[in-house]
Amino acid sequence: MTAAPTRDASTAGAHASEPQPGACVRPPSLVGHVMRISLPVGVLAGLAEVAWSYLLPIFSDAWRAVLPTTAAGLLQFIAAAVATDALLALVGGCVLAGLMWLLVKVTRAKAESSWLRTTAGTLLLGSAACYLYLGWIMLFVLLPGERGTVGYQLVVWGGAAVLVVASLLVVVLLNRAGRRRWRGAPLATWCGAAAVLVLAAMPGFGRQRALAVGGPAIAPTPGRPRSNVVLVTLDTLRVDYLGCYGHPWIRTPVCDALAADGVAFDQAIAQAPSTAPSHASIFTSVYPFDHGTENGKPMVRGLVTLADVLRANGYETAAFTSSTTTRSINSGLQQGFDTYDDSLVAWSSLFARDEFQQLIFLYLIGIAHHSQVRGEVVSDRAIRWLDQRRTDRPFFAWLHYFDPHTPYGSPPPFRGTYAGKAADGLPMAADRERYAEDVSYADHQLGRFLGALRQRGLYDDTLILVASDHGEAFGEMHDGVSETRHGRYLYDTTQRVPLIVKPAGTRGMARRAGEQVELVDLAPTVLSLLRIDIPAQFVGKPLDELLDGRPFSYAARDAHAFNVIDVAASAGAGASGRALEPKAGQPVMFVQQLAVRTPQWKYITIPRVPRAELYDLVSDPHERRNQARSQRELTADLHARVTRFWDPAKDVNRDPRQRLAPSLLKQLQGLGYLGGEENAPENEGSQP
Ligand SMILES: [Zn+2]
Repeated sequence: MTAAPTRDASTAGAHASEPQPGACVRPPSLVGHVMRISLPVGVLAGLAEVAWSYLLPIFSDAWRAVLPTTAAGLLQFIAAAVATDALLALVGGCVLAGLMWLLVKVTRAKAESSWLRTTAGTLLLGSAACYLYLGWIMLFVLLPGERGTVGYQLVVWGGAAVLVVASLLVVVLLNRAGRRRWRGAPLATWCGAAAVLVLAAMPGFGRQRALAVGGPAIAPTPGRPRSNVVLVTLDTLRVDYLGCYGHPWIRTPVCDALAADGVAFDQAIAQAPSTAPSHASIFTSVYPFDHGTENGKPMVRGLVTLADVLRANGYETAAFTSSTTTRSINSGLQQGFDTYDDSLVAWSSLFARDEFQQLIFLYLIGIAHHSQVRGEVVSDRAIRWLDQRRTDRPFFAWLHYFDPHTPYGSPPPFRGTYAGKAADGLPMAADRERYAEDVSYADHQLGRFLGALRQRGLYDDTLILVASDHGEAFGEMHDGVSETRHGRYLYDTTQRVPLIVKPAGTRGMARRAGEQVELVDLAPTVLSLLRIDIPAQFVGKPLDELLDGRPFSYAARDAHAFNVIDVAASAGAGASGRALEPKAGQPVMFVQQLAVRTPQWKYITIPRVPRAELYDLVSDPHERRNQARSQRELTADLHARVTRFWDPAKDVNRDPRQRLAPSLLKQLQGLGYLGGEENAPENEGSQP
């Protein structure tokens, strides 16, 4: 009888009868040993992942939000962990067996030689670590929200099948060898497989684990059956990069058609220049310092979201998001959604070159770098969800397209469509052209979803809102500062965003609204149109008067934008943009920046420095000439109006980078946030 060289390195109980001296290892016995050793390792690794996940909130509070809080949720979580690890165990075990077999063949080593045992032990330990690591990555990156896809089925059902086949193999091998010492193992694998199959069939399995998280209790408003609601955010979309907002050469037929069916707002103001805080303001209808969200930092507990209110009023709520900044764990935006699909790996594009490379290489060396999925995936998921719905309830769907965000560039046929178009003397022409590709691509993908609504007869009776969370800058100059990308400044380049609303039951309205509105107005507008009570927490105002073409009661209201930025700790009073920016290695402070915007004036300040900028939006819409010194009275008035939102206690050396996991920090920096390379000033001073 022969024995595998891995035998002695395995855990207690894995031993067989003494090998014959000099016996060579044959593949059949190796398979048996692989099953005996690697499957229990896989199952144990799965359980260890679950345990480890529940320890994580000790280090980062954000984890608490995505862990199951119910017994059923926990069971499903365990099933998913064991299933993924059983799959990995099979693959890893086969590789391990092959390696050992080769080693024995090549070296003609005796099975009992000590160096061989050491090598086997090392390989086993290494593979166990790999199971833990890869299984954990798969659980948190791949699995959520992919229910119904081939890849998802492969993981869950494949994992269960592996357990069944493995237990059969072990039984056969043990019987053939006449040994009964591992009788418990087949039973355990049978039970494990059965548990996985039962749990996989349970409703809700494979959905975002954040399901259990909800806001405060909300009493429903009685009323008639209500229309469906679709909210679309086209991330990083500049207001002037849409055909319906006057761009000379970009093609955005879908948004243009939607604007022709509804109302386009010309002065819509986003509340923050970056993704997570701006979206949190959309959903909570409070200003950024009140929901506390920053990129990588979820919103505070206890707030009511639009999704909460709609769900309490009988809506099925679903979100399909596409960036690391909108993932539930990083933003808390999943609150109130029945389905929150924020997976950043799409099975459909898993083997596309770039995604595959990222998975294989970057994850293996610990750089979880995946930061977005394309709009195609967002539309695919949303359309699939539309077809798999089994309720008659009205729905609220949020679709988030990240494509216009850096890195720029879209697949064919959009790639290169605008080459040479931006050669009109504007800075960063190449970037503008590739950005425009992305906008057209996102527009096209949105069109696929709206087309699906039409095909199902849902378009006309659905309230559709399309907005951007912030714009994008391409070297614009403001008071001596060159602005690129977004996230740092509060100029209109990033804060004035497109907003198109098509009320349910209308078509061909083609109305423009020039009044100043804010993105915090979206949630109250939706509720007002649906005749649902607006929570007292919401600071935004309903826009139905503008949708109806009536005079707007809140036309004279201030609009606001806020963010937290890093400035040089040495920056003195009145320091302008360049002097504010910290140089490498320089001490920094993280301080609040506030902006207030009237229909004519825009005032931006950093009270801690203090820094004051005042622009006349009528005569100087691109905010180039700072008039704070010449308009002292107005400046003082606007300063008083905006600094009531300033909390000096939150100002000091609070470096958000310190609380972030290294992998998340890398992702955010890759997107240009928190000192990322793309935020580095480019083209500074090159253009007026
Ligand atoms: Zn964004």
